[in-house]
Amino acid sequence: MSVLESLQAHESGRVRGPIGRTLDEMRRLEYHPAARTDTPGSHQHRLVYDCEHQTRLPGTLRRREAQPPCDDADVNRAYDGAGTTHEFYRTVFGRNSLDGHGRHVISSVHYGVQFDNARWDGAQMLYGDGDGVVFKSFTRFLDVIAHELTHGVIYNETRLGYEGQAGALNESLADVFGSLVKQWAHRQTAAQADWLMAKGIFRPPIQAKALRSLAAPGSAYNDKRLGLHDTQPAHMRDLVTDEIRDPVHTNSGIPNHAFYLFAKALGGHAWETPGRIWYDTMCTGLRENCGFATFALQTLFAAEKYGTTTVEALTRAWRLVGVLED
Ligand SMILES: [Zn+2]
Repeated sequence: MSVLESLQAHESGRVRGPIGRTLDEMRRLEYHPAARTDTPGSHQHRLVYDCEHQTRLPGTLRRREAQPPCDDADVNRAYDGAGTTHEFYRTVFGRNSLDGHGRHVISSVHYGVQFDNARWDGAQMLYGDGDGVVFKSFTRFLDVIAHELTHGVIYNETRLGYEGQAGALNESLADVFGSLVKQWAHRQTAAQADWLMAKGIFRPPIQAKALRSLAAPGSAYNDKRLGLHDTQPAHMRDLVTDEIRDPVHTNSGIPNHAFYLFAKALGGHAWETPGRIWYDTMCTGLRENCGFATFALQTLFAAEKYGTTTVEALTRAWRLVGVLED
């Protein structure tokens, strides 16, 4: 079960309405990768719209590239988050926007009423305001923005599906680069980073640190009253195979943790060697049904040019999570 489904099952009254509507809306939303044509260019181009609590996309244009901040904090945060993510991919990997060809980044804020999610729909970003009880506004979290935009990069670079281990890899890549964008923006080393996705997204008094933890999968939230329990595994022995627990967002804990262990072992900035190896691996065109072990071997191949110490640290990380055998 996803976080939203767990909440829907346990929470009475206050947020059932918004969460139920969000789940319905998520099922209704389609992925349309070819929609809306953009004029590619060498400079980034952001457009931020306001849905004004409707679900018609993109809504009313509120801020375009190079315009000063407007009086809507969500518009400005969506604009800034898209900008930081773009700058990360440009300066760290020499990538020009999500498609590598300067695609415009369109965002829409205030999507729906108390919508409890953020999403890249293949053509644009959309952000809900959160229900105000459990979740805060989704524009507040740079790693959430970068996670969702990275789905656009993954779509362009890989054929990864959204089921089984390939689906979990899809989610893990989005988490890894989401976390790296945040670390890069704060110039944090692997030791300084919190390795949490969406730290503080749950409103108090909910017992939760974040949506996910790359450092300690399974520890991000635990609120019995709300029926919330983080079931992400950190090792292959705990791989989730039932369909009830949202396996794509659950099993991503395993490759997430391998990346964390590798980055911690190397030290320094995780977006440098570890990030480059993951990026290069992603850009080899991962197959639709790529499993963890295949992905791990591809990362080892990409790591070879960094020397024996790096390859050994990476091998150890994949062994520690049980993807490669001793
Ligand atoms: Zn995702």
